[in-house]
Amino acid sequence: MQNVDITIVGAGSAGLTLALLLAPLGLSLAVLEQGSEPAGRKGEQHRVSALNLASQRVLAHVGAWPAIAATAQAYDKMQVWDADSFARIEFDALTERVESLGWICDNENIRLALYQQLKQFTNVRCEFNCTINSVVQSERDVLVNINQQQLLLSRLLVGADGVNSMVRKAMQLPVTHWDYDQQAIVATINTELPHQAIARQVFLPTGPLALLPLPNTKQCSIVWSCNPQRAAELLALDAQGFNQALTAASNAVLGVLSLENQPTAFDLKMRYASTWLRGRVVLVADAAHSVHPLAGQGMNLGLMDVTALAELINEAVEQNKDFTDNRLLRRYERWRKAEAQTLIASMEVFKRGFSNSQPLLKLVRAVGMSGVNQWPWLKAKIIAAALGNSGDLPKLACEQSKTSHHA
Ligand SMILES: Cc1cc2nc3c(=O)[nH]c(=O)nc-3n(C[C@H](O)[C@H](O)[C@H](O)COP(=O)(O)OP(=O)(O)OC[C@H]3O[C@@H](n4cnc5c(N)ncnc54)[C@H](O)[C@@H]3O)c2cc1C
Repeated sequence: MQNVDITIVGAGSAGLTLALLLAPLGLSLAVLEQGSEPAGRKGEQHRVSALNLASQRVLAHVGAWPAIAATAQAYDKMQVWDADSFARIEFDALTERVESLGWICDNENIRLALYQQLKQFTNVRCEFNCTINSVVQSERDVLVNINQQQLLLSRLLVGADGVNSMVRKAMQLPVTHWDYDQQAIVATINTELPHQAIARQVFLPTGPLALLPLPNTKQCSIVWSCNPQRAAELLALDAQGFNQALTAASNAVLGVLSLENQPTAFDLKMRYASTWLRGRVVLVADAAHSVHPLAGQGMNLGLMDVTALAELINEAVEQNKDFTDNRLLRRYERWRKAEAQTLIASMEVFKRGFSNSQPLLKLVRAVGMSGVNQWPWLKAKIIAAALGNSGDLPKLACEQSKTSHHA
């Protein structure tokens, strides 16, 4: 039997970032991952995430940012418009006085950059291709059975194992979920015109279509959310038919669009665990919540969870206090639940507001969108949220001049 201070289940962006934030504290850590070692972008298929400034600060702090930035595309402008009306909003890095509004990063390259940093720490043990057979806790520790043969005892266990979290199920933590009744079609596409480092999103009656700029100036990653019936129709088209439908949906804003690789569809479900904590087991990121990708905030939210948890553990370690203390873990849960609930609620308003073609609602959203573009204070609030500069941020994620106020 082996003993560690903290076990992290899941080596996704959240699990690896948490390990990197905790490793310098000198705690012994185990990271258990069912998949293989991160190897960077594989083949043609790749998933990307739009990371905001708050996430960038955290990833820079743990030393992974230079490697992530090397394969990412920064975007200086965001353009959002409604296909059905005159509504339009634009954001610009120059006006916001920031280096860029965000970065489109390859998910696998994020994991690889984090893992490369983590390998430097001898107090972190990473196990890949491992099967967790059971998670059982007593008052003092948590026992994990790995590959039917090894037992691992830890003082705290963190479930960073994604939307279908095994840890959440093993601890019987209740989850609320509703189907957005949408699927997201993801693919890399070639564009006739250069993307000019602009992230674009058009709201169609069937759901939003995002065109996210990639390092190749004539390539974008698309996230096309639509109802399952429309998704099935689109996926049944041949490449030529799909390209025509996509070009039309984008208002040909980047000229003729064509698929670079085979599109894949993901079911979109909102999941929210109503309890994130049981004894010495705590959930983070997608294991605790998953939201609609229309605002590109899921990974950003998860990175803030792990930064918040690490901040509280760090405080306890510095003050020679017990980092498994229930009051500390409850503080984490209260803090991050409030942030997750705000995001889930705003995604719902957006999703409902834009997926309705009722004429009055169309008029309201058109007026609303143009109002946002003209009212600087409202626009400032929206851009602060998009940059990740709003809400109660962990210290590491704050702009230098601001501090966090969590209780
Ligand atoms: C179409 C789409 C587009 C998106 N776009 C964006 C975006 O632009 N910006 C953004 O911020 N977010 C975006 N997101 C959300 C983002 O992808 C997720 O929020 C993020 O990847 C979650 O990270 P995670 O580490 O919590 O989970 P994951 O990345 O799912 O990692 C969980 C890890 O746990 C491992 N695991 C699972 N079960 C076990 C087990 N039993 N034992 C051991 N290991 C296990 C998995 O193999 C995996 O490696 C998008 C999501 C979708 C679906």
